[in-house]
Amino acid sequence: LIVLDKVNKYFGPLHVLQDVDLTVDRGEVVVVIGPSGSGKSTLCRAINRLEPINSGTITFDGRELPAEGKALAKLRSEVGMVFQSFNLFAHKTILENVMLGPVKVRKEKASVVRERAMKLLDRVGIGNQADKYPAQLSGGQQQRVAIARALAMEPKALLFDEPTSALDPEMVGEVLDVMTSLAREGMTMVVVTHEMGFARHAANRVVFMADGQLVEQDTPDAFFGNPKSDRAKDFLSKIL
Ligand code: ATP
Ligand code: MG
Repeated sequence: LIVLDKVNKYFGPLHVLQDVDLTVDRGEVVVVIGPSGSGKSTLCRAINRLEPINSGTITFDGRELPAEGKALAKLRSEVGMVFQSFNLFAHKTILENVMLGPVKVRKEKASVVRERAMKLLDRVGIGNQADKYPAQLSGGQQQRVAIARALAMEPKALLFDEPTSALDPEMVGEVLDVMTSLAREGMTMVVVTHEMGFARHAANRVVFMADGQLVEQDTPDAFFGNPKSDRAKDFLSKIL
């Protein structure tokens, strides 16, 4: 579904993505881990063209990423993104936040979207909070709203960039539970996270990045049980 071929990205002299090759199949859950500054966020952002690349190609669903215009808007609606900061609209209710994309961007009928949005809010466990405002919810609840909002666009894939890093520890689990159930239901997901429990249990594949390079990728069992590169061994010894 997502194919990166020899992708290079520079920030000035800094070579942030170095010949990155990565394929994410439909229904696959790929967890990206690696030290701070290794290029994980840049990789995620490149996949939905929030960040332009300098060379190489990224294709989504068989087509090279569009640079602009309607095709780009379509791509963005097909590849949902969930960030560390939830980025909800403070002056809109939870329900309105979830409905906004489909109604404004996709011009869908509000009554149709409302029904779908309510189902999604139920699915992430906050159907009873639909009429509240973001500030009235906990961080974990807000992040679940952000996931429901991404799902409301009926994406073909979801990208998560450290979705639980800004949360109090006791709220991490409820967000990971939602992500795990999405993974089980066959959603294609690329997840940057430091939650190694999630990587072990929900990922089909773990990708280890360091210094802009995709150093190693393997099944969770193989990667955690028997990392091959020194950099991966070093990284794991620090976090496990
Ligand atoms: P973290 O774990 O801290 O989130 P990361 O792996 O997500 O790190 P990136 O955010 O992708 O790393 O950054 C990769 C490198 O690119 C870093 O050295 C960072 O300082 C640099 N960088 C990121 N964004 C920009 C930018 N807009 N302009 C210049 N340099 C940037
Ligand atoms: Mg990052």
